[in-house]
Amino acid sequence: MRTKIYAGNWKMHYGPAETAAFFAELGEWLKGDKKTAAALNDAEIEVLIYPTAVCLESAARAIGLQNGQKLPFTIGAQNVHWESKGAFTGEISVSMAKEVGCSYVLVGHSERRHLFGETNEQTHKKIESVLAADMIAMLCVGELLEEREAGRTFAVIDAQLAEGLGNLVSQPDLADRIVIAYEPVWAIGTGKTASDLDAQQVCAHIREWIASRNAPAAKRLRILYGGSVKPENSAAIMAQPDIDGLLVGGASLAPSQFERILTAS
Ligand code: PEP
Repeated sequence: MRTKIYAGNWKMHYGPAETAAFFAELGEWLKGDKKTAAALNDAEIEVLIYPTAVCLESAARAIGLQNGQKLPFTIGAQNVHWESKGAFTGEISVSMAKEVGCSYVLVGHSERRHLFGETNEQTHKKIESVLAADMIAMLCVGELLEEREAGRTFAVIDAQLAEGLGNLVSQPDLADRIVIAYEPVWAIGTGKTASDLDAQQVCAHIREWIASRNAPAAKRLRILYGGSVKPENSAAIMAQPDIDGLLVGGASLAPSQFERILTAS
């Protein structure tokens, strides 16, 4: 069985106080939701939040990484630099993210690719440094609308996988170290969601692509869907056989919405 992941990408939202308040509210809610608490406890599901870098400390404190009162949530960094240190103004390193309590790093999010010019080559270097620090890389892949309309969805995704993963794809423990998030760019923050069947078709393609290079890992690999996920559409997406979780942007900012997504599926 693959542990399902419900991940919230907060992008550039929330400061440290709002971060603490979010986790306090989610923690209170969990006390009253025995089913979700048991699913977390039994590792049937994992709940992961990517706050901004300046809020990681606040998030780590809120979930008890620093005070022993642990809430069963995980945190990750939205972005890292591949170098371990140096003159890279505005960047953070993998070891800094790890020290503050992150166990995941988001790599190649479409906003990094399309607003900040992140290349497949850079995603590969980032993944290498994340794995070297024994953290999990969540690699985002997805096509632009014009690429979909030109029938190039699979070709774009294949290139993002091939160049992003490189020779790491044959690692025996790939499924423990990498998660793939399929996020069609035209569905991110637009209110347009891929239909559950379209999302399943691409996620199945991703699993087959991995299977042809590393069959044992493909069975265990977690593949998420992201793009305007809401409480209303999450259950149908999660019911698809090759979709093991959700990467949620806007709807992860309000605890009440995120809770509904967690319990809907
Ligand atoms: C995202 O940021 O990864 C995302 C999927 O955003 P939204 O849910 O707002 O479309």
